[in-house]
Amino acid sequence: MSALSERDKEFVWHPFTQAKTSLPPLAVIKAQDAWLFTEDGKKYLDANSSWWTVLHGHGNKYIADAIHKQFLELDHVIFAGVTHPKAVELSERILKLTNRHHHKVFFSDNGSTSVEVAIKMVYQYWFNLGQPKKRFLAIEGAYHGDTFGAMSVGQRGNFNQPFEHLFFDVDFVDFPSSEDYDSTLAAIEKLFATGDFAGFIFEPLVQGAAGMRMYSKDWLNAAISLAKKYHVLTIADEVMTGFYRTGTFFAMDQVEQKSDIVCLSKGLTGGILPLGLTLATQKIFDAFLAEETVKALLHGHSFTGNALASAASCASLDLLEEEASQKKVQRISDAHLRFVKAHQNNPALRDVRAMGTILAVELEIGEQSSYFTSIRDKAYNYFLERGFLIRPLGNIIFVNPPYCISDEEVQLLHQVILDFVEEEGRKD
Ligand code: PMP
Repeated sequence: MSALSERDKEFVWHPFTQAKTSLPPLAVIKAQDAWLFTEDGKKYLDANSSWWTVLHGHGNKYIADAIHKQFLELDHVIFAGVTHPKAVELSERILKLTNRHHHKVFFSDNGSTSVEVAIKMVYQYWFNLGQPKKRFLAIEGAYHGDTFGAMSVGQRGNFNQPFEHLFFDVDFVDFPSSEDYDSTLAAIEKLFATGDFAGFIFEPLVQGAAGMRMYSKDWLNAAISLAKKYHVLTIADEVMTGFYRTGTFFAMDQVEQKSDIVCLSKGLTGGILPLGLTLATQKIFDAFLAEETVKALLHGHSFTGNALASAASCASLDLLEEEASQKKVQRISDAHLRFVKAHQNNPALRDVRAMGTILAVELEIGEQSSYFTSIRDKAYNYFLERGFLIRPLGNIIFVNPPYCISDEEVQLLHQVILDFVEEEGRKD
């Protein structure tokens, strides 16, 4: 064990980690572009962009310079009763990117808080209108974060069982696999027609933590239309899908109907500083305007509107506006699609799918796909030994690399996944 890992073991409690059985953590001391470098002199390709965040690669000089400049001008300032140039610039630019369908930006610190804020906006919207409503709709398999509101609208199960008795009322519609579009839409209509529903939250087009499960834009369009018909507010959780991950700037750019609220985080700052944004329409914002303070959204975090994170986000948007970034996304997307085409009939794979820069390879394991299957650790270690940091979701191996990744590196990723699949197949 490296010296850093030993000190870590004594003092650090890691997220999503069973300390009793897990291997020591990788002691990463440097990162550049798509690569992580460890204390023991090894290097690893950061295939999942460090929890799906790092967009342009590590150590991006343009973003580093923007943060440095911002630090010397203004590092951080309270955001209640105060504003600053980069928060305003970021808000203007993000709202322009939703074609001005949304009108106001609320700042927080991460994906979960952006969702938490969205849920509070929905409940308080109805409360302020004097028509309190309690129920939410989410999609089976959903993941929206680890705070209580976000957990409530997420898939119930092993991850949140100790807290389940504390969650609010949420109905889950079946995941819209292509065979049962009509029945899932009919189920939604039946629920919405009760008039009890405050909101409907969804990960647009791809459910991330559920295993990069992809579904059709037509279904989502129809589901949002139903929400509009029955006056249910909609939240598009673009925390994972935003910033070209699905090929378009937002996943919702592929959907005709628009949501009332959008949640953003992860890639927002280029994926290197924490920041969350919740975008709302004018209609929602207006419901909080009153003479009484209690009708305001009385919510905020110490680091809300952090100036460094805002500056990093503006710099990241500059980079995303460049044709070169869009070409990189296209290059990765094309390579993934070629991979899907070449391997869609492989009997060792239950499914292989891609959307934008996301590629998911679902291994056939002879039982239902599950996060807790033992093949997950086997695959994780196999990739680590070969210099790839790929965290499978159970039997689903996926990559969503930083956009700076080269064509050769994408090929390396594809190949190591195929090598694992082949090696596993040989053992049967
Ligand atoms: N929403 C979605 C769709 C996510 O994928 C995640 C994180 N994986 C979150 C919310 C929560 O974000 P965070 O981890 O930054 O709290």
